[in-house]
Amino acid sequence: MRAKLIDGKAIAESLREEVKQKVAERVEKGLPAPGLATVIVGDNPASKVYVRMKHKACQEADIISIGHELPADASQEEVESLVQKLNADPSIHGILVQLPLPAGLDEERVLNTISLQKDVDGFHPINIGRLAQKGREPLFIPATPAGVMYLLENSGVELSGANAVVLGRSNIVGMPVSLLLVKANATVTICHSRTKDIPGLIREADVLVAAVGIPEYVRGDWVKPGAIVIDVGVNRVEDETRKSGYRLVGDVAFDEVAEVAGAITPVPGGVGPMTIAMLLRNTLRAARLADGNGNG
Ligand code: NAP
Repeated sequence: MRAKLIDGKAIAESLREEVKQKVAERVEKGLPAPGLATVIVGDNPASKVYVRMKHKACQEADIISIGHELPADASQEEVESLVQKLNADPSIHGILVQLPLPAGLDEERVLNTISLQKDVDGFHPINIGRLAQKGREPLFIPATPAGVMYLLENSGVELSGANAVVLGRSNIVGMPVSLLLVKANATVTICHSRTKDIPGLIREADVLVAAVGIPEYVRGDWVKPGAIVIDVGVNRVEDETRKSGYRLVGDVAFDEVAEVAGAITPVPGGVGPMTIAMLLRNTLRAARLADGNGNG
């Protein structure tokens, strides 16, 4: 393997330790511990697993976290009124509504109901809008895109003037990552399901962020030698040698690409752990905003 491994797990652990220390400093000063409320609507098993992981991480950082669950047939009004109740609760600094919501609920309206100062997932339309505008800054950056940027900044790559290719244009990963890369002065090409000659575009990229959700989609001979590769994909593939019957792979064919790239994130152990660390950071920031510390 030629590429340097970007160890997201280790980087995330040190970030989580940093958050924990800052929480302890707050509490010592008599300030309240940060409080996160999560909202799950329905029975999506993946959502339940993600939210459980978030609560565990909060607990380890001494952040208070309170879970709310609503049934799959909850009405728009019920979901919004829970969010409003949490907006008004001074012990709750951050609100996370786990997506996707069940069909029939208007996701944008729910996200719009979250107080801007408590939008620790960064999906409020105003926060996303600010991300898209020059000279404006969102109060919170969505956790996975923030994790991608943190890993890039720590990989030593000069983003200013770099050619960056982002594979995927979803609201939660591809688009915000692309906007953040533009803010960092990279020249960004966004690829999606209608893009022509994706391998040709990737061959020009100094930085590649893959978020398509297709196992091992990016091949070794697509990647420019020395490029920095961030693999956001988390895909299950069958593996009879595992007790579970499956293993997780990214959107990048790791073994091939690692022979060509300058640096690469593994799956698991790359972007995934960063997502949780960034949520904890955002929750701490929300508590600081509530103290009146605008710098969060
Ligand atoms: P998504 O909403 O399904 O979006 C996938 C994107 O990929 C879309 O923009 C789609 O294009 C594009 N695409 C699909 N097939 C393509 C193809 N053949 N060629 C080029 N582009 C193609 O997925 P997502 O939510 O962004 O997630 C992407 C991956 O990241 C998934 O594996 C997910 O599990 C993972 N993920 C990881 C984390 C983490 O914390 N590590 C967090 C979130 C997501 P169109 O827009 O044209 O449909």
